[in-house]
Amino acid sequence: MSRPSNQTFAERIADGLVVGAEGYVFELERRGYVQAGPYVPEVILDAPEALRQLHREFLRAGADVMVALTYYSHRQKLRDIGREDDLEQMNRQAVRIANEVAAEGGALVAGNICNTWSFDPADPVRSGEIVRAQYREQLRWAVEEGVDFVISETNDFVGEALIGLEVCQEFGLPAMVTFASVHPWHTYDGYDYADACRALADAGAAVVGLNCSRGPATMLPLLERVRAAVDVPIAAQPVPYRTTPAIPAFESLVGPDGERLFPLRLESAALTRFEMADFAREAADLGVAYIGICCGGAPHYVRAIAEALGRRTPASRYSPALELHPVLGDAPSETATRDMGGWVATS
Ligand SMILES: [Zn+2]
Repeated sequence: MSRPSNQTFAERIADGLVVGAEGYVFELERRGYVQAGPYVPEVILDAPEALRQLHREFLRAGADVMVALTYYSHRQKLRDIGREDDLEQMNRQAVRIANEVAAEGGALVAGNICNTWSFDPADPVRSGEIVRAQYREQLRWAVEEGVDFVISETNDFVGEALIGLEVCQEFGLPAMVTFASVHPWHTYDGYDYADACRALADAGAAVVGLNCSRGPATMLPLLERVRAAVDVPIAAQPVPYRTTPAIPAFESLVGPDGERLFPLRLESAALTRFEMADFAREAADLGVAYIGICCGGAPHYVRAIAEALGRRTPASRYSPALELHPVLGDAPSETATRDMGGWVATS
């Protein structure tokens, strides 16, 4: 058992803003290594190089944390796809890979637990024990492989989130607990999101906040309320999609023909890197301590977020220099002018 970083999570947060980066499952699905639908990260065992590469891209883009890809690597999900026998190996390898890449850039390593789909608010005691057993085995392996803290995320229920926090506490691990916010105002078990965050902070979470479901436009107003409700540092990891007050969560976005965009048609609602940079600045102004990105996240967004927060990252070596573009730049070349015809004549 080891703690990978020489700084604790609390020290790192106290030092200043932490940049997070997630969206592994969506990005690896796009790259052909995860199946949409079950979204189980089989890539951990089937193509570890692909996972290592994405970690490395996020690290180069400025992420301060390498999050072990154990999202949906819990017993319930593995059983669903008939790979329950791979559970331990999958969890251990995900944490090992996060550690390997974190060491290349001094990043923190986070273990990861999430909504299990096993929790039943109508039967919280019995279903809660099924949840607890899944978190215990995942975090036991994570601790043995080495993590600095745990991100418990995409929580739909305060009841389930509290169980996750308790298991983190059993292992002596600091926990960052964040809620998905699919419903306009409350968790699936009826807590206003600000109250949900306060309940977790009161129970001892190191950081609380929101992840997934909402784009910046609909997450920022909620964050303001969470900020006012708690004294602990807060986290924000939105999705990079154009959610609106009428449709606050990306799961419900619809396209021009009325078709559901989630999860495979979301490109038409994607935000630009500049909009994610704006989000990072606004979140920092609100006092958000951990600023990252969830489903839909990709390295160019992370670099834009890090740079908006005043960082220069390894990938900043290749940040845009459009003034050098042959057509868009200050001094278009003759060839470009000719090739682009009338379009460029006005530049
Ligand atoms: Zn997400």
